[in-house]
Amino acid sequence: MSAKIIDGTEIARAVRQEVKQAVNERIDRGLPVPGLATVLVGDNPASAVYVRNKHKACAEVGIRSIARALPADATQAEVEAVVNELNQDNSVDGILVQLPLPRHLDEEKILAAISITKDVDGFHPVNIGRLAQKGRDPLFVPCTPAGVMVLLEAAGAQLAGANAVVLGRSNIVGMPVALLLVKANATVTICHSRTRDLAAVCRQADVLVAAIGQPEMVRQDWVKPGAVVIDVGINRVPDPTAKKGSRLVGDVAFSEVAQIAGAITPVPGGVGPMTIAMLLKNTLRARQLAEQQAIQN
Ligand code: NDP
Repeated sequence: MSAKIIDGTEIARAVRQEVKQAVNERIDRGLPVPGLATVLVGDNPASAVYVRNKHKACAEVGIRSIARALPADATQAEVEAVVNELNQDNSVDGILVQLPLPRHLDEEKILAAISITKDVDGFHPVNIGRLAQKGRDPLFVPCTPAGVMVLLEAAGAQLAGANAVVLGRSNIVGMPVALLLVKANATVTICHSRTRDLAAVCRQADVLVAAIGQPEMVRQDWVKPGAVVIDVGINRVPDPTAKKGSRLVGDVAFSEVAQIAGAITPVPGGVGPMTIAMLLKNTLRARQLAEQQAIQN
């Protein structure tokens, strides 16, 4: 194996530690601790676990968290009313609406109802729009894409002028990662399910980010020697030798690609731990922005 392994667990720990220290300093100075509110609609078990993990992570760094839960048949107006109430609550700095929402709800409208100064998930259309514009910056960058950029930096990837290929164009991962890479002056190709000859496109990549949800689809001969490979995919595949009967793999065939890449993230232990770490960082930032705004007014 020749690739440097990018240790997302360790890098995420450092980010959480940095947030914890900043929160402790606030407490020492008698300043309010940041507050995060989560809004969970329905009873999707995976969403419930994600939300629980976010509250646990908040507690570990001293961020206050508030959980709002609504039933699966909550109306659009009821969900928006909760968001509006949290928008008005000065003790809440960040609002996270757990996705996916039940199908009868208008996700775009609910995300747009979040105050952009509390949009710690970075999915408000104004924040995403700013990400797509030259010379403008969003108040918050979506957490998983922000984590990808931190990992690229930790790997020492040279982004300016590099050929970057992003596999996937979802609103939550692929597209914002591509926009961030453009901001970092990479030349970016975005691939999706209609892309022809994916392998040939990937072979041009100095930086390859895979976010397609297809287990181990990226093979060794898709990767340029020395490329930096970030694997966002989290896929559960059957494995009779594992205790649970299954295991997690990424979108990249790790063991073979690691022999040729310059640096690579493992799954688990790569991008996964970064998402919550960046959420904590965004929540701290939301509190700091609220204070800056109060000074300006
Ligand atoms: P989506 O299903 O929303 O998007 C998948 C994207 O991949 C789409 O753009 C789709 O193309 C493209 N795609 C799917 N199959 C292929 C294929 N065979 N060839 C080329 N492109 C393909 O997924 P997400 O973006 O939400 O998530 C992607 C992966 O990242 C998943 O494994 C998910 O679990 C993981 N993830 C990990 C996170 C973390 O914290 N580490 C956070 C979020 C997601 P098209 O647009 O044409 O349909």
